[in-house]
Amino acid sequence: MKQLLDYSFEEIEQIVLSLNEPKFRAKQLFDWLNKGADYEEMKNLPKSFIDKLKAQEYIAQAIKIEDVKVSKLDGTKKYIYRLYDGNIIEGVLMKYKYGNTICVSTQVGCRMNCAFCASGLDGLIRNLTPGEILGQVIAVNKDNKQGDERAITNIVLMGSGEPFDNYDNVTKFLDLVNAEGGLNISMRNISLSTCGLCDKIYKLADDGYNLTLTISLHAPDNETRLKIMPVTKKYSVEDIKKAVKYYFDKTGRRIVFEYSMIAGVNDSINHAKALVNLLKGLTCHVNIIALNYVKERGLKGTNNDNIKEFMDYLEKNKISATRRRTMGADIDGACGQLRRKYLEGKDE
Ligand code: SAH
Repeated sequence: MKQLLDYSFEEIEQIVLSLNEPKFRAKQLFDWLNKGADYEEMKNLPKSFIDKLKAQEYIAQAIKIEDVKVSKLDGTKKYIYRLYDGNIIEGVLMKYKYGNTICVSTQVGCRMNCAFCASGLDGLIRNLTPGEILGQVIAVNKDNKQGDERAITNIVLMGSGEPFDNYDNVTKFLDLVNAEGGLNISMRNISLSTCGLCDKIYKLADDGYNLTLTISLHAPDNETRLKIMPVTKKYSVEDIKKAVKYYFDKTGRRIVFEYSMIAGVNDSINHAKALVNLLKGLTCHVNIIALNYVKERGLKGTNNDNIKEFMDYLEKNKISATRRRTMGADIDGACGQLRRKYLEGKDE
């Protein structure tokens, strides 16, 4: 079994030629694939060509939308997808004034095991292929577009999985989604979030990807961070600072830090002070949210008053920070709530 969405246009051309079909079929096929069409919808392709593809075990759309839940609070949609091997992944579509942002998953499960996140509850099951990441964007685009205009304007790699733990597939996905004949979404409109695998931050910069790099920091010092993020054993907050400086110097893109506030863990004024010290000298922005509830993890979000106090301290010390609205919390679609199990109800 091979998934056609895994291939670039040039690779599709090679496949077409290897099946003794005229070269122009490649463009037709590639267009259909990027529109989310399955074989039966590809009206201008001869059945004999499609039969050859099927005989070679090529699948057109290997990822299928299994279910969609819509938030009553803010219209956010949570998508549940089924992969060809029966695995389930989740993703989210958020509607903003300026456009629609899709949050995509990069792995089934995750092996980072952050103490607050649902995605790592069962460890890593497998990496997603480039086409399975792209397939999420294509399927949701098809589900939301009216007429020919693309429905997705922005992509965030912030679903389940650690993108840098699946580097090659993720960067091939970036190439595919950015390709001119494909969805053609610009790097400017893509954010990649990492728990801080520093070797890959350097690599991404050296490989020339100019996207918005987002670091899930959640603690300004190694002692606190180690309690909630095991990756700290490998890379310290100082390592992260060095790596993002390198990324900024190479790309000129402002670094974004995510800070989810957890009651009694990372939310004191001393933490705010340490954060100011750590971020001093970086061109960056901090996104603050209160931790979202994940039943199995047991941690609680910081209350509004304490968040305000924390943010006031940052502001006084010239660190730019915004509190982000939590979206899709009523459908378990908010940060850290995506998982590989399909939860039918809230009380399961
Ligand atoms: N593995 C990558 C991509 C995941 S992005 C990363 O760590 O960045 C998902 C974001 O939600 C991360 O910033 C993650 O730390 C955060 N998150 C996880 N669980 C959360 C929770 N319960 N509440 C709020 N944010 C959470």
